[in-house]
Amino acid sequence: MYQAFLIKYGEIGIKGKNRHIFEDTLVSQTANALKHADGEFTVRRENGRIYVQAQSAFDFDEAVEAMKQVFGIVGISPVVLTEDEGFERLAESVIDYTQKAFAKQDFTFKVVTRRARKNYPMDSMEVSAALGERLLEAFPGLKVDVHHPQVTLHVEIRNKINIYSHTIPGPGGLPVGTAGRAMLLLSGGIDSPVAGYMTARRGVRIDAVYFHAPPYTSERAKQKVIDLAKSISRYTGPIRLHVVNFTEIQLYIYDKCPQDQMTIIMRRYMMRLAEHFAGEDGSLGLITGESIGQVASQTMQSLAVTNEVCTMPVYRPLIGLDKQDIIDIAQKIGTYETSILPYEDCCTIFVSKHPVTKPNLKSILKSESHLNERIDTLMEEAIKTAETIRIE
Ligand code: ATP
Ligand code: MG
Repeated sequence: MYQAFLIKYGEIGIKGKNRHIFEDTLVSQTANALKHADGEFTVRRENGRIYVQAQSAFDFDEAVEAMKQVFGIVGISPVVLTEDEGFERLAESVIDYTQKAFAKQDFTFKVVTRRARKNYPMDSMEVSAALGERLLEAFPGLKVDVHHPQVTLHVEIRNKINIYSHTIPGPGGLPVGTAGRAMLLLSGGIDSPVAGYMTARRGVRIDAVYFHAPPYTSERAKQKVIDLAKSISRYTGPIRLHVVNFTEIQLYIYDKCPQDQMTIIMRRYMMRLAEHFAGEDGSLGLITGESIGQVASQTMQSLAVTNEVCTMPVYRPLIGLDKQDIIDIAQKIGTYETSILPYEDCCTIFVSKHPVTKPNLKSILKSESHLNERIDTLMEEAIKTAETIRIE
């Protein structure tokens, strides 16, 4: 029934001079996303809006699903296009639309008409009033309510006439690539994929780093992280995933440092290495899935000690969320099922049963000094042997 979509975008409408960049990015990302849907589409910018027009028969659900993955899109309105063949034909089209677009014709409504073409023989108010009357005649269950209508029926007179009333919510946010790059510390858990999603939703392009510890962690655990990266790349676009072998560093820390400081010291080395890859990729910050108080390594004290090694800003978009909030998002974006697969991640193998929850920086620094002999070499080795996988 529909031949086009009108894309609504929120915030990006108010970005002043940058507006064109945002809109162009949104146009090209919408076009890219639609390549995954059955059908041919053109996407264009017109008078501060974006139009998607089908050039062939297409799969409606696939098209909507694709557009729901484009950050920056606030709403997607399916549009019926008709030729302009006089008011009578228009009224018939609007009645036909109302018949098909609603299961039951028993709502309050108003008609809003816009003329992009001023040569139309009636003005907007006249068209709206006349269409309203025709709809009331056609459907006894309808009622006009100009202040709080349940349905606003939009009629836009352009080269063709556009009729629409529904808006399907989009993901919101800003188009990816309009805000710079950041490096996501991606583990196989529930949190970090969500953290990546949320940061990308603000327009940030994402790369990722994963620390594994073969043979203590399996190939399946690595594949799980690759799968998670693939899942979020539907939203974030391509991701460079650096897979870093962390085994030797972990064993060395295990050997030289107190058991109860193991996790926190490991986390500090992860941050240091992540910063290295961030620098190489032109990232402006790190992203983690940390949330205050979730586990011992995420108390305020632990976060402070972990953060101490970083020179880049560390973004923690989940900081104030409860686990259940995070799970809800993970389910919505389709990462949850993969995240809960039971494969071990590198942290769970060496962790102490009673980790410090209030680490003292001085004491941590003292423990780390026991690593002086080999740690630089091991870090270099980890960097040199890292594998970079391009996730599309
Ligand atoms: P997640 O669900 O993201 O694994 P978590 O609740 O298991 O988080 P931690 O294990 O304390 O929390 O890790 C905190 C954050 O550190 C993660 O969200 C992730 O950003 C990063 N991280 C932890 N382990 C790894 C790893 N093996 N590789 C890359 N990043 C990691
Ligand atoms: Mg984890």
